[in-house]
Amino acid sequence: MFSEELEKISWKETTEKIFAKKDSDVRRALAKENCDVEDFMALISPAAQPYLEQMAFLSRKYTQERFGKTMSMFIPLYLTNSCTNSCVYCGFHISNPMARTILTPEQMEDEFKAIKKLGPFENLLMVTGENPVKAGVPYLAKALDIAKKYFANLKIEVMPLKAEEYAELVTHGLNGVICFQETYNRERYKIYHPRGMKSNFEWRVNGFDRMGMAGVHSIGMGVLIGLEEWHTDVTMMAYHLRYLRKKYWRTKYSVNFPRMRPAENGGFTPNVIMSDKELAQLTFAMRIFDHDVDISYSTRETPEFRDNMATLGVTTMSAESKTEPGGYYTYPQALEQFHVSDERTALQVTSKLKELGIEPVWKDWDSSFDCYLK
Ligand code: SF4
Repeated sequence: MFSEELEKISWKETTEKIFAKKDSDVRRALAKENCDVEDFMALISPAAQPYLEQMAFLSRKYTQERFGKTMSMFIPLYLTNSCTNSCVYCGFHISNPMARTILTPEQMEDEFKAIKKLGPFENLLMVTGENPVKAGVPYLAKALDIAKKYFANLKIEVMPLKAEEYAELVTHGLNGVICFQETYNRERYKIYHPRGMKSNFEWRVNGFDRMGMAGVHSIGMGVLIGLEEWHTDVTMMAYHLRYLRKKYWRTKYSVNFPRMRPAENGGFTPNVIMSDKELAQLTFAMRIFDHDVDISYSTRETPEFRDNMATLGVTTMSAESKTEPGGYYTYPQALEQFHVSDERTALQVTSKLKELGIEPVWKDWDSSFDCYLK
């Protein structure tokens, strides 16, 4: 399990190493076809800032070689904001006295139909808070059963599950799971997640192993930028990605670097700010480090920044997202988990992509192709 690997990596020493990287380390990394985590550290370090143009060039080259000039489009649907956790940075935390919604099967159908009117979406990400009693595996199985009538590719972003539970959901049409570790800093993790299931660091970080063991086709990872020193956190994620690739080599991987935005509960002030330039640097570094990983940008980012990065390494984007349960049809005014920056319609986003020479792809995977992978 990855938690055992993580024990061997010191947070403090990793931070020191990143900030000690020199110009020569960056040049060595840029000259390599296959970078290791040490090279990744050099590429995200302050020493690499003068090399952004060269990094952008390489990132674009590897992206076009592996993905062509395409952008996979997806849309999230929040099924519920009911949550038993107390994440201090999230408006859905249990102590927030707000109305809670759990979409019924009928309401799900309404949402799916409403999404289909926005654009020809086939990649759906269903999101829940963590409520195993009211929105546990049977609820998710039902949601998948209904959703597969409307969408070809179904992913979930829910509480970490047991391997057998992931395997069960695969039989209901589950293709991918996204889970954010939030931070790999084990000590500080407890401060952000004081109570509830999510306070168990090991259970969360080893969830990715359980997804791999269950044969989930696609695994998405991310750290929440705004909690801890981001250079160190994304380096831990790079170690994690390499570990998973070796162990579960049939699986597809994606990464996401969500920058914290204010929640509606008055907001948690981020401890760390990542600038656009730094996010661009990190995106290039990730692409140079792992040529095949899907890099996903959500509507948390501004239209201008998403457009700029669309040709330089990003391969998956959401559009016209609502971050409140039932936000497309049932409860358009409900409390959002966070406020989006890119408020363009899906069709506006995709026509801009076309203008940039990028073909939006609505459906890039089908379970019927799985037989060729076995
Ligand atoms: S981040 Fe997720 S688990 Fe934490 S309080 Fe918000 S919805 Fe619940």
